[in-house]
Amino acid sequence: METYLKTLELLKSLLISNGEQFWADWMQKDIDVWNKDKSTEHHLHAFGGAGSFNDINLGQNDKIGYWKNALLSNLASISYGFAKTQTIEIPKGYFSQLEGGMCRKCKNGDIAENSIERFLAAKFIPEIIEKNLLSNDFLEILNLENFQNNSETQTEKAEIINAIKNANIKLNPFGSAWEYDCKICGEPNKISYRWDVIFKNDFFKIIKSDDNFEI
Ligand SMILES: [Zn+2]
Repeated sequence: METYLKTLELLKSLLISNGEQFWADWMQKDIDVWNKDKSTEHHLHAFGGAGSFNDINLGQNDKIGYWKNALLSNLASISYGFAKTQTIEIPKGYFSQLEGGMCRKCKNGDIAENSIERFLAAKFIPEIIEKNLLSNDFLEILNLENFQNNSETQTEKAEIINAIKNANIKLNPFGSAWEYDCKICGEPNKISYRWDVIFKNDFFKIIKSDDNFEI
């Protein structure tokens, strides 16, 4: 099967299993149009404008939601790229930032586990696609729970948690609501803040990002 069609099949399955029937039907139409006259015109119409394909959110404030959304956006990037240029380009995995809060008074930071889950999904989903999309077992990509819970992901998660602790940043549990009150000094003086994750000498290290506001 052509990689473009595999990508559309994966998108369709992902959308069906998350109750997005309208867009699943759209992908089916894209498949039919391609099979009939090798046109990507209908697929391109899914993107751009309000209420477009780009606005779909498959997350339900749960951990797997970050993986679903990362898979959706990576697959959409492949299918859109092909529809535009007729070439398949697999996105590269990247180290995104960790987001949290920083107290302007005592300079203590905190990060919620949500941010780690988003980081792991952003890093691993492109690798999972690269490993499986060109093979006959490409539907394996849809077993997101397996990838989320496998030992590679869990080991990396533990290492990042460790790096957060080493950087003296407080780790809040998954789903913690944003609070302006600093848990350390009690001042309602927190701002949102970002950290970069770098990999150095076999260890993850968390450092302040350059794009934060001065505090
Ligand atoms: Zn404080």
